[in-house]
Amino acid sequence: MDSRINVTKSSMPTFNEYIDEIRSIWDTRWLTNMGEKHNQLESELKKYLDVDYISLMVNGHLALELGLQAMNIKGEVITTPFTFASTTHAIVRNGLIPVFCDINPYDYTIDVSKIERLITDKTCAIMPVHVYGNICNVDEINRIAKKYGLKVIYDAAHAFGEVYNGTGVMNFGDMSMLSFHATKVFHTIEGGAICYHESEYKNEIFKLRDFGIKDEETVDGIGANAKMNEFSAAMGLCNIRHVDKEIEKRKKAVFQYRELLSDLPGIKLNPVNQNVKSNYAYFPVVIDETKSGYTRNEICDYLKSKNIFARKYFYPLTNDFECFHNRFDVSQTPVALHISKRVVTLPLYADISEEEVNRVCQTFIDWKEKSIG
Ligand SMILES: *Cc1c(COP(=O)(O)O)cnc(C)c1O
Repeated sequence: MDSRINVTKSSMPTFNEYIDEIRSIWDTRWLTNMGEKHNQLESELKKYLDVDYISLMVNGHLALELGLQAMNIKGEVITTPFTFASTTHAIVRNGLIPVFCDINPYDYTIDVSKIERLITDKTCAIMPVHVYGNICNVDEINRIAKKYGLKVIYDAAHAFGEVYNGTGVMNFGDMSMLSFHATKVFHTIEGGAICYHESEYKNEIFKLRDFGIKDEETVDGIGANAKMNEFSAAMGLCNIRHVDKEIEKRKKAVFQYRELLSDLPGIKLNPVNQNVKSNYAYFPVVIDETKSGYTRNEICDYLKSKNIFARKYFYPLTNDFECFHNRFDVSQTPVALHISKRVVTLPLYADISEEEVNRVCQTFIDWKEKSIG
């Protein structure tokens, strides 16, 4: 049996680089609560992402939950079901009501032509997702939000470091959430951040992140605990030094995939947007079984039999989760439903080798020969 290929593998600095980075923590004995590493990482990310404000968090999910809370909104939030559990859960856990808009079949982001018909007098915000690093139609979303007085908070977990028409992607909308989970392009083991431009959010977010504590004797918010610790921040300080090189390595793998898979029938590759500087975070393909001769599930099982672990990402849709007990109607988002049954995300990480990418692609080709033969 060939060696195992997982869908992802975390980028890491060398052991010694990390040890050098954490050494000073033994001098300060300051382990968490906005320490030196935390503050340094915050300022380096602010520069790297070219944003007005960024607040680091213990993970991306809490960044999203607290971002919503800082906006102090009530009612309905228009979002999409073609995303990770976190997006929808952040809305529901805040006592807000998710209203699901369909995605477009081209790049799987929110279908902006279907947003306005979902707006009611209860709508307070839009929470779109830059799926696989594909940037939403930010201009149209901005126009709609202005017209109806809605807040916009992006789930930008997939879009770290991307630039759209010369602007850092974290600058769109009122807020953008980032995840620094171990599997992401840039990570702090667990971690995340919320980016925003309004200084008024800053105090609110600081308090929500730390139990609502304003100063030593004043607790005037019902906050959570979402502080990033120094060991995570130190991992981030190491990883930020190498992130451009890591993205460059991902890019090479993506180009190799594109070359090897582009002529196979029934396989739709992720679209390339010439206006976006990509981070090459994911490599999703959508299988059209009428042309490929196999379904998404069949190719996933076949890959698995060859010790290759791709992921059905995103399947199932969040509006189909069991925890919601059929509260939502998936037939209202038919494109998302169609794509979620056909999409598979192939192994991609900075250190994936040429041979490994070859092996994944050869498995697709072998299936064809298997079915002809
Ligand atoms: C990873 C991810 C999140 C959650 O981030 P965590 O840091 O794991 O909490 C949210 N949304 C999307 C789209 C993600 O991929």
